[in-house]
Amino acid sequence: MTDTDIYDLVIIGGGPGGLSAAIYAMRGALKTVLIEKGIPGGQVNLSDEVENYPGLIHANGAELAMKFAEHARVYGLEEINDEAIAVEPGLDHHHVRLAGGRNIAAHSVILATGGTPRKLDIPGEDDYYGKGVSYCAVCDGFFFRNKQVIVVGGGDSACEEGLYLAKLAEQVYLVHRRDALRASRILQQRVEADCKIEVLWNSVLTEIQAGADGVNQVRLQDTRNGDQRDMSIDGIFIFIGFEPNNQLVPKGVRLSTEGFVITDGQCATSIPGIYAIGDLREKYARQIVISAADGCTAALSAAHYVETRKAGSGADTCELPAT
Ligand code: NAP
Repeated sequence: MTDTDIYDLVIIGGGPGGLSAAIYAMRGALKTVLIEKGIPGGQVNLSDEVENYPGLIHANGAELAMKFAEHARVYGLEEINDEAIAVEPGLDHHHVRLAGGRNIAAHSVILATGGTPRKLDIPGEDDYYGKGVSYCAVCDGFFFRNKQVIVVGGGDSACEEGLYLAKLAEQVYLVHRRDALRASRILQQRVEADCKIEVLWNSVLTEIQAGADGVNQVRLQDTRNGDQRDMSIDGIFIFIGFEPNNQLVPKGVRLSTEGFVITDGQCATSIPGIYAIGDLREKYARQIVISAADGCTAALSAAHYVETRKAGSGADTCELPAT
């Protein structure tokens, strides 16, 4: 393998973090390839309304995702539409194996694989997924116009999605296991002010039941005294956080107890040349703007890392022509 076969940087994941990393890497003249198994944008595609990305008072998630991708492509980004199945660290360079059989060598790798919605793990949840159980209000809310739905969770996602569903549904019940919401103050205020949303405090779902037409009933439990009751309902939207997609994280990389990658301030993992950004990385908050910032940080740090390696190996240095 010659040095020109080796990429400077492989980015795995085409969400806001991966695409921001690509923008910075391409502008920094790194030989870069981005691997994405689906469509660019990641979770942003599922957001109907994005109102907290600086400079955009209101944006549609899918349109914002497309803008990120368009921006990265302006610089001629190479993209591979395939699934990365393994990242194998090496001393000289790292390898990324793809489901399609390709094996890519690179000096640095940015893992930007995000997270997946967390499940309640209760009877009926898997059985009735797509038949009344959903993890995406924007995708499925339309089917519940003028119907009664439950939203589970007390964080920003549950409140945001509950507010979205309240525009369509007849009634939204926000089921939360405690007596206080975790969501930001502004979202809490909007939920409180929405006459179509009723919060069922100190409550959890213990079972989802369905008839021939899909979900029709849930069993609720009071978290203070264990009392149970059944409630008729047409749909259930679950927003209780998410799990990091850490399957590709190589052995030796430090993880938090919840499985998020622990990095330093440059988004570098405990393996030199391997970075983790966005929702995969252990940090205080998970926001589009933070993923984008992580992408910038990791790409700039990777550029420095690659330059230092090349300078050390004598590659890419200018030689005076022989006279
Ligand atoms: P989150 O903040 O972790 O909230 C998860 C919620 O689900 C919590 O209220 C939690 O209850 C509840 N929960 C967890 N496990 C549960 C279980 N097994 N049964 C019942 N309830 C359970 O997750 P998120 O709302 O998805 O947000 C994730 C991150 O993205 C956060 O940093 C959030 O700020 C950010 N985000 C921001 C925006 C925005 O600003 N526009 C939108 C979406 C997400 P407890 O409160 O009791 O722990």
